[in-house]
Formats: sequence, structure tokens, C-alpha cells
Amino acid sequence: MNSETATAITANRQSMEMSVTWSDGHVSLYPFSLLRAACPCAQCRGGHENMKAEPDSQVFTTSLEDSAATHLVTVKATGSYAITIVWEDGHDYGIYNWHYLRKLCPCPECRQGK
Ligand SMILES: [Zn+2]
Ligand SMILES: [Zn+2]
Repeated sequence: MNSETATAITANRQSMEMSVTWSDGHVSLYPFSLLRAACPCAQCRGGHENMKAEPDSQVFTTSLEDSAATHLVTVKATGSYAITIVWEDGHDYGIYNWHYLRKLCPCPECRQGK
């Protein structure tokens, strides 16, 4: 079974976190600000040439101010391989595929594997 498939995604606007349950049972908890900092779209990454299959390590140390940009409005499925996140400031260009999201998991276990 491919461990890089999300089986459940819930966004909690109270705690400002999105949780993803993976097919291997792992549960990832992403603060909204981390997801926004890691937005994989060309605009946020500063050009198509900077778009990568995995998040930059600096996104884990980037702290964004609480603003419309870090308020998640909704999460949409994009095919069976990714999600699109819609932000309160209207930004919705980022397509987070499973591989990228799994690499973005901020838990100590996943970060240690780096
Ligand atoms: Zn973006
Ligand atoms: Zn993890």
C-alpha cells in the first residue's frame, strides 16, 4: 500500500490546524501558517523554476503573522493525488500533492527523517 495517500483530511478553524490521516495510519497535524508558508504555487515560490517536489526546509522556520493569508477557508480535492487550499485572502493557486504534504509533516518523527 502506498503510504503517501491521504485517507481523511479535516481542517479545524478553532485550533487553526489541518489534520491528514495517511493510508499507513500516520496522522499529520499542520498549522495553517505552515501550510501557507509552504504554498507550492509558482507565485509563492518565486517562479516556476523554484517549484519543487518537496518543501523547502526554511518553511518550517518561517512564521507568518495571523492574517487573512493564514486563514484557511476550504480544502478542495484535486483529482485523487492532491488538494487545493483556498485562503481567506483569495489565494488558491497552491496544489499540495500527497508527496509534498507528507514531506511537510511537522511531527518530530518525520522531521528526524530529514
Ligand atoms: Zn501560493
Ligand atoms: Zn509525521
